[in-house]
Amino acid sequence: MTVPTKSLLESALVFLGESLRSFRSGSLTFAILHVTTAVELVLKERLARVHPNLIFKTLDSEKLDRSKTVGLYELPFRLSHFGVQTNESELATIRDVAKWRNEIVHHTPTYDRNSAIARLGEVYNFLASFLVNQLKVDLKSAISADLYKTASELLSEWKGVIAEARGRAIESGETPRSETCPACGADGVLTEDADGTIRCHLCGENLKAGNCRICDKPAIGHPGWGDEIYHDACLAGYTSSLGPAYNVKLRCGKIENFESLEFILTKP
Ligand SMILES: [Zn+2]
Ligand SMILES: [Zn+2]
Repeated sequence: MTVPTKSLLESALVFLGESLRSFRSGSLTFAILHVTTAVELVLKERLARVHPNLIFKTLDSEKLDRSKTVGLYELPFRLSHFGVQTNESELATIRDVAKWRNEIVHHTPTYDRNSAIARLGEVYNFLASFLVNQLKVDLKSAISADLYKTASELLSEWKGVIAEARGRAIESGETPRSETCPACGADGVLTEDADGTIRCHLCGENLKAGNCRICDKPAIGHPGWGDEIYHDACLAGYTSSLGPAYNVKLRCGKIENFESLEFILTKP
């Protein structure tokens, strides 16, 4: 039996449509939830085009377990092992989406409307380019005309929100920083004040610059325990190798469970 790959793509487009409909009716939470499912499904569709069984989590047992499929976080890695590369910014978007869904499902989401619109805009951009470049689907032909209009409105609203934040960054009189905000993923919105606090004029996060405790390269993040800074990607690499039992909550390079961190950093 093979997995009907057409239905993965069809489902992805249904969720994308639902997400746009939710956005149009003012429900950001459902717009986000539906779009994260759409992202997971397009990645699975790409994997299934290599081979339909590649979407299953365990491939090494005698009998193929079809009840568990690869998670959103692991999908880009599995794709990369089969020659489908996602670039750094796409990878960051997928990671953001995975964290975002987790926040909505397990906690009370903390995003404000502007940063939610900015992130949604990025995810829609990602989906549009992935559909075109990896799956040879055109967004315009795949979703209805009125929803396409919503998508382009969302994208222009997103551009407007970022442009305003860039304006606020320039007007602040603080030193501009060229890095991407690790919290909201926007460029050109960070400034540094006299005592070294880096502020995002889009999502409002206060951050610090320093060398990543794990890879020792320059990073921007929330100062953690002892003012240490981490790349989200470096932390995620450590925590995913440990499994969910260690329950380190990551948010913008800030570690919220220091006991686990001690364990991670002293792990042989
Ligand atoms: Zn930000
Ligand atoms: Zn690092």
